[in-house]
Amino acid sequence: MPHNGKLYIETVGCQMNVLDSELVVAALRQQGYALTDDMKEADTVLFNTCSVREHAEQKIYSQLGRLRVARKKKPDQVIGVIGCMAQKDQELIFQKAPHVDLIVGTGQLAEIPRLIDEARRDRKPAIAVSLDRKEGSRLDVASSFESYDPLRDPEMRPSPWQAYVRIMFGCDKFCTYCVVPMTRGPEQSRAPSEIIREVQALVAQGVREVTLLGQTVNSYKFTENGRQSRMSDLLAAIHDTPGLQRIKFVTNFPKDMTDDLLQAIRDLPKVSRYLHVPLQHGCDEVLKRMKRGYTVTDYRDMMARIRETVPGAAVSSDFIVGFCGETEEAFQKCMDVVREFRFKNSFIFKYSPRPGTKANELWSDDIPEEVKRRRNNELLTLQNEISEEDNAEFLGRTVEVLVEGPSKRTTKAKGTTSGQMAEDANLNYPMPGVVESAVLAGHVHRDHDHDHDDAGCDTGCGTGALVSLDLGRSGSTVAAAAPRTEPVQLVGRTPCDRIVVFDGQPRLAGSIAEIHVHDCTPTTLLGSIVTRQIQHGNETLLPILM
Ligand code: SAM
Ligand code: SF4
Repeated sequence: MPHNGKLYIETVGCQMNVLDSELVVAALRQQGYALTDDMKEADTVLFNTCSVREHAEQKIYSQLGRLRVARKKKPDQVIGVIGCMAQKDQELIFQKAPHVDLIVGTGQLAEIPRLIDEARRDRKPAIAVSLDRKEGSRLDVASSFESYDPLRDPEMRPSPWQAYVRIMFGCDKFCTYCVVPMTRGPEQSRAPSEIIREVQALVAQGVREVTLLGQTVNSYKFTENGRQSRMSDLLAAIHDTPGLQRIKFVTNFPKDMTDDLLQAIRDLPKVSRYLHVPLQHGCDEVLKRMKRGYTVTDYRDMMARIRETVPGAAVSSDFIVGFCGETEEAFQKCMDVVREFRFKNSFIFKYSPRPGTKANELWSDDIPEEVKRRRNNELLTLQNEISEEDNAEFLGRTVEVLVEGPSKRTTKAKGTTSGQMAEDANLNYPMPGVVESAVLAGHVHRDHDHDHDDAGCDTGCGTGALVSLDLGRSGSTVAAAAPRTEPVQLVGRTPCDRIVVFDGQPRLAGSIAEIHVHDCTPTTLLGSIVTRQIQHGNETLLPILM
C-alpha cells in the first residue's frame, strides 16, 4: 500500500552505513515515503548506527532520549534503531529506550519496510537480527546475514556521478579490539557478475566514479563457473565499463596486498593510485595483541612493493592510540612509523573497549583518557606536518580533478541543507562522495577524534569567466550551453584522492577539470582551473579567465 509518510534518517559511522542508508531510503521512497530534515515532523525516524567506538553509541542513546519526550506529542511516530548497534545490543536497546519500536540488524535491512508497517499497525515492538557468531555454524551465521538487494535509485544520490558498490560483506579477521566481525557477520564476497551488472547500471544512471567497499576489500575472492576471481580480476572487469572514469576501493588489509593487485593498479588507468591500508600501530608487540597478523617489517616490505610497482601512489593509514598496555615506548614507535612511511594522511582513534571483543575480555582499558588524548594529538600533529609537506610538493603543478560540487564553505555560506549536512559530517575518512550521501541520508555523523575538512582554508582561489575546459581521459563534455551562474568555491579530488578546492561554475560538477595548484594546507590543495591553449603546435596551460 503506498504511503505518504515522512521519513527522517540519521546515519552514524562508516561508508558501509552510508550505503546501507541509501538502500533503505531507496526502498522506502519506492513505497511513497518522502525524506524530511525535521525529526519532530517525521512519521518514521530511523537511526542507522555504528558500534566501532562507544562514543558513536552514546550519541544515538542521547538522540533517543530526546525523542522520548517528543514522542508524547506524536504518539504515532515509529522509531527504529538499525545497523551495527541493533545487531550488537539487540533487546538491550528496548530496555534502555522503551519507546523504540524497531530494532533491525545489518543483515536484515530488507525487512525494514514490512516491519515499519507492522509497528504502525500493531504498536508492538519488533526485532530482526542475524545469528550471533557463536549461535551456529559459519554457514548458518553467514546465511542469517542476508545480502541486501542492491536497489539503486539515482534519485537517491544527490551526487549522480559517484556511488559506493559493496563487493564484500562482513569480516573474519577478528582483530582483538574490533566489533565488526560480530556486527556485520562472516566475510562473504559478492559474485563478480552481480557487481559488474550493478556498476553498469550505475554508469547508465550517470555515475562516473565507483568506490568498491569491503572491510578488507583486497581479500576479495569469488569462484564462479569454476573460475576464481581475485580483486585484480574484478578491477580489470569493472575497468572495461564504458563511461566509467574512476575506480576506488577501501579498506585494504596489509597482509592481502598482493603483487597482482598492485600490477592491476599500475596497469589500469581508471583505478585510483590511492591505497588506504591501515597499519594500526608501530610496535610489533601491540600489533600482536591486536591480532593483526603482521609486523612492522612486513608492512615495510609491503610499502616497498607499493612504491616499486605503483610509483607516486598515495597511501593512508588508521592508528589506534591508548590500546591496552600501550607503553610510552610503544607509542613512540607509532610516531616513528608515521615519520618513516610518510602517509598521505592518517585517521587516529583513541582506543575504545568494545563488549564482545577479545581485548575487552583479556585486558583492562588501562591507559588514562588524558594520556590517550595527548598521544592522539601528538600523532595527529606529526601527521599533519607530513601531510602539509607532502601537499607542498604539488605547488606549481597541474592536477586532474573530478569535480564533486560546491565546497563545504560554499554550501555553508549559502545556508543550504547540504551545507548543514556537510557540516555534520567529518568528510575526509576514505569515503569520497559522503557529502552527497549525507544529503541523501538525512544526516551523517562521523565518530572521529579529529576533524578534516574539504575546504578548511579561507583562501579564495581562481577568478574570472569560464572559457573552456580540458575534460580529461573520458572526453565527455561539460554542458557548454548550461546557463551561466556566479562562480563558487568547488571541491574535487585527484586520482590520488587529494582534496582540491578552486573557484568555478557549479555546472562543472561531475566533470574532470585541470587545476593549477598554488597553495595548500595539510588536508587541501588550493588552485585555479586551467585551460589548454594550443599555439603553433605548442601546448600551454593558462589559468581560466572568468
Ligand atoms: N577493516 C578496516 C581495517 O581493518 O583496517 C577497518 C574498519 S574499522 C570500522 C575503522 C577503524 O576504526 C579501524 O581501522 C580502527 O583504526 C578503528 N577502530 C576499530 N575498533 C576500534 C576500537 N575499539 N577503538 C578505537 N578505534 C577502533
Ligand atoms: Fe575490524 Fe580487523 Fe575486520 Fe578491520 S580487519 S573490520 S579492524 S576485525
